[in-house]
Amino acid sequence: MHLLEKAPMPHDPVPELLRRATEQLEAGFAGLPAYEPDPIPDLDVIAGVLATVAHRLGDNYPYFHPLYAGQMLKPPHPLARAAYALAMKINPNNHARDGGRASSEMEIEAVGEIAAMFGWSEFLGHLTSSGTLANLEALWVAGQLAPGKRIVGSEQAHYTHRRISAVLKLDYAEIEADSRGRMSLEALEAELRKGDVGTVVVTLGTTAIGAVDPLDEVLKLKARYGFRVHVDGAYGGYFRLITDDLAEPARRAYLASVEADSLVIDPHKHGLQPYGCGCVLFREPAVGRFYKHDSPYTYFTSKELHLGEISLECSRAGATAVALWATQQLLPLTPDGEFARGLKSGRGAALELDRRLGADSSFVRLTSGTPELDIVVWKLKAENAERASELAQRIFVSCATRGLHLALVQLPVLWFEPAGVGQAGAVTCMRSVLMKPEHAAWLDRIWERLSAGCAEVLGV
Ligand SMILES: *Cc1c(COP(=O)(O)O)cnc(C)c1O
Repeated sequence: MHLLEKAPMPHDPVPELLRRATEQLEAGFAGLPAYEPDPIPDLDVIAGVLATVAHRLGDNYPYFHPLYAGQMLKPPHPLARAAYALAMKINPNNHARDGGRASSEMEIEAVGEIAAMFGWSEFLGHLTSSGTLANLEALWVAGQLAPGKRIVGSEQAHYTHRRISAVLKLDYAEIEADSRGRMSLEALEAELRKGDVGTVVVTLGTTAIGAVDPLDEVLKLKARYGFRVHVDGAYGGYFRLITDDLAEPARRAYLASVEADSLVIDPHKHGLQPYGCGCVLFREPAVGRFYKHDSPYTYFTSKELHLGEISLECSRAGATAVALWATQQLLPLTPDGEFARGLKSGRGAALELDRRLGADSSFVRLTSGTPELDIVVWKLKAENAERASELAQRIFVSCATRGLHLALVQLPVLWFEPAGVGQAGAVTCMRSVLMKPEHAAWLDRIWERLSAGCAEVLGV
């Protein structure tokens, strides 16, 4: 049961806005001869099914609420939802202009704005159905440019890079991470000396703790050893907008993203979009040649760029592009805009939570500094890792009964102890992703519940 303080769902302005916009959309097609659509089945039956859907969807954590502070989950912006629903009236397919002229244009514009955020003016890019698909495309291109060469990424890189490499039949190796979760440059250079590394995957914002790999330093090694640099910013890409608010190493890494060879970012993570929205960018437009295909049915009826000519997937929801385009109209990707302020707010909440954890003797923070983005991890103080893990699991449950939803993560014990003191192995830690702007205002209430949850388990 979720113990929330008030009615959990705030007033929803979307239906009314959507009704008005739908009328406008319909007016645009008013010149068509009238036709009788097939009658909709019994409305009572539809209402009944919908009621069942609403009931079943209640079996979820309340991702929309500020007391959900666990995984990387939040609802799309109301405008994104409305624009997506409006596009459903047409259901365009961004494979070809024939399937969605307006939404293809919107995709090209929205992707251009994302590229501009990284300082890229010339590039090739498009939306994908996810970060995984976007990374797959980037590594697929990388593999064709350097056949038989290896892909390497930090041991904290997203787990799908190894799987993607296996699908592409490319060898993949893990590079050790330091106690901050960042790719170790010494370990990377040792791999590079072997001479067969084709691509280095650099993560700006790891999934577990939001660590930022030293992209600027990796680029220096690129100048010496020669390899492709693929940036996985699926989670953290948008923090490019607020580099001045980050610690110096992370700031330098983000600023260097202008020199990456390919880059992935997930608008469905920090970009306020419904799921089904990843994005891949290539700095060299000529890689478009790898996508050339020929089939009797996906003919392209005009000379303009059809997005299906530069993407691995065939059908893709035009609605995804419409929602993203609309959101970026309202919240442009600028360092001084409201969207950037939202990122800063979540990051502020993360720093404040981290500070409070540091002042409480029940908890142990990472030995090497504050959160790099908006993800906080901490361990329970205990005589050994088994006991700390058990406590974390019990506190996770006891917070949930108080309506506070956190997450758990397995991390190396050594990250929490001064060098030379710790035991090897992993420990289950608590993790909180503070990715909603509202988390800042709710931090006291989050802390209250965390403290109460701990007190119950620890008996203090
Ligand atoms: C989430 C994530 C991915 C995978 O993206 P999906 O959109 O979930 O497929 C890849 N890399 C990183 C760093 C991520 O955080």
